Amino acid sequence: MPAGTTSGTPQVLLAHHLKQLKLPTVLREYDKIARECARDGVDHPRYLLRLVELELIDRERRMVERRIKAARFPAVKSLDTFDFTAIPSLNKMLVLELARCEFILRRENVIALGNSGTGKTHVGLALALAACQKGFTVAFTTAAALVHQLMEARDERRLLKLQRDLQSVMLLIVDELGYLPLSPTGAELLFEVFSQRYERGSTLVTSNLPFEDWTSVLGSERLTGALLDRLTHHVHILTMNGDSYRLKQSAGRRRPPTAADRAEQNQTTAETVDPETGKTSKP
Ligand code: ADP
Ligand code: MG
Repeated sequence: MPAGTTSGTPQVLLAHHLKQLKLPTVLREYDKIARECARDGVDHPRYLLRLVELELIDRERRMVERRIKAARFPAVKSLDTFDFTAIPSLNKMLVLELARCEFILRRENVIALGNSGTGKTHVGLALALAACQKGFTVAFTTAAALVHQLMEARDERRLLKLQRDLQSVMLLIVDELGYLPLSPTGAELLFEVFSQRYERGSTLVTSNLPFEDWTSVLGSERLTGALLDRLTHHVHILTMNGDSYRLKQSAGRRRPPTAADRAEQNQTTAETVDPETGKTSKP
């Protein structure tokens, strides 16, 4: 029972109705804001406006959290913690532009290419987080996991449902295409995913292999050609060739750390990201 009330009945009913209307923030705040408004001489429309605005802000935050959870990120990373100077081959302006997520509205694709440890997954996760914050539905997976999931769904006769689900997200991230060669069936199922998303939704792919080597993963030259044709029709390429960030860090750890190393280390330890602001904080 909110404090500062006399009779229980209207409050009980109000709590019930607000729950039914799914207005948890109004329920939580109405009594406190009422007292503040009475104190400050704020009129009823403004009181109601304040409450409704709080509900809207909270609702948006809850939706971002829900989208992040549904996307199944292996870690939450943002561009705040990405050091662009470590990877000069990467077009920073393009990444910042992509983080505005207009490419998702235009249903364009992104492909990040580069050797291991250059931050492809980090950038993919950061763009995916930005998309969640801007209201887009996102799914994150690796090529190997996706193919495994597709094969399993096919065996269990629920492939169509999975394909429909994969088609419906606005941004699909397929990380690590290239580390494992795919079986002919796996390659065909992956091709179908890209094909079904063509001009319907954005796909972001990361790969350690240049396009000319994708045949070694997908097995068939014909299939690779058809897949690249669709994927690269409307595409932004992120070139991420350089030294491995991981190796640089572990090389740094083998000698006694300097003050500069420690500062850098602090920058890159696991961080939590506020789903609303995207600002990071260390645990
Ligand atoms: P890739 O996917 O290209 O193999 P990752 O994105 O997994 O590389 O990067 C390896 C690790 O190094 C991750 O923890 C990532 O956050 C970090 N990292 C890579 N590049 C950068 C960078 N330029 N700035 C900050 N952290 C980076
Ligand atoms: Mg990676």
